[in-house]
Amino acid sequence: MKKITIAIDGYSSTGKSTIAKLIAKKYNYIYIDTGAMYRSVTLFAKKNNLVGENYLKKDELVKELPNIDLKFKFNDKLGFAEIYLNGNNVEKEIRTLEISNLVSKVSAISEVRKKLVKAQQKFGKNGGVVMDGRDIGTVVFPNAELKFFMTASAAKRATRRYKELIEKGDDVSYEAILNNVQERDRLDSTRLDSPLVKAKDAIEFDNSDMGIEEQFKRICSLIDGKINS
Ligand code: C5P
Repeated sequence: MKKITIAIDGYSSTGKSTIAKLIAKKYNYIYIDTGAMYRSVTLFAKKNNLVGENYLKKDELVKELPNIDLKFKFNDKLGFAEIYLNGNNVEKEIRTLEISNLVSKVSAISEVRKKLVKAQQKFGKNGGVVMDGRDIGTVVFPNAELKFFMTASAAKRATRRYKELIEKGDDVSYEAILNNVQERDRLDSTRLDSPLVKAKDAIEFDNSDMGIEEQFKRICSLIDGKINS
């Protein structure tokens, strides 16, 4: 069976990673969460006082890029690869609202994108990969055999994210999450370098009213069509 490259792009909190993990499990593919990579660089920048609510020390962060090492290690218990920043597992730390509020400033820096895109292309060079993000089908793997673009209403997405964070025990308000989702959409779609846009050949899924199972079923039949062709 052919090992293909599957790109899943779309707005924040559209369930891209949930679908990507299911695909990886079913087809025994490598899953790469590129958002985790941008979040980890943001965590590094925050810890080193290079980014905050009202500032971004871009040049200093760019100088530090060679000192940022990102690795994914598969966690058997969880069934997916977790991200390590300079040797430390940062899966939890990168998912806070604080990092979500800073990440789009950091991900707009071209030098950051260049470093991460290069690493992503290396991870996926042998195919058999499912990668989710904002620019996978447009920049990272423009020749991916299958591209999906996920959307959903901002209110639906904020509700999903709110539930996730509350279940984890985070002290957040729905309004703060909604605001983050909308602001990230705006910044990610309007940045100059690799803005979030649907690739021409991407298949769009509006999952405002579609459950995971239904989406997964449709996506699997498209994948099966490609790998058996
Ligand atoms: O996917 P996730 O919500 O974790 O992504 C966090 C942020 O990382 C996005 O809002 C965006 O700013 C950035 N990102 C990006 N390009 C990608 C993946 C994520 O710019 N391929």
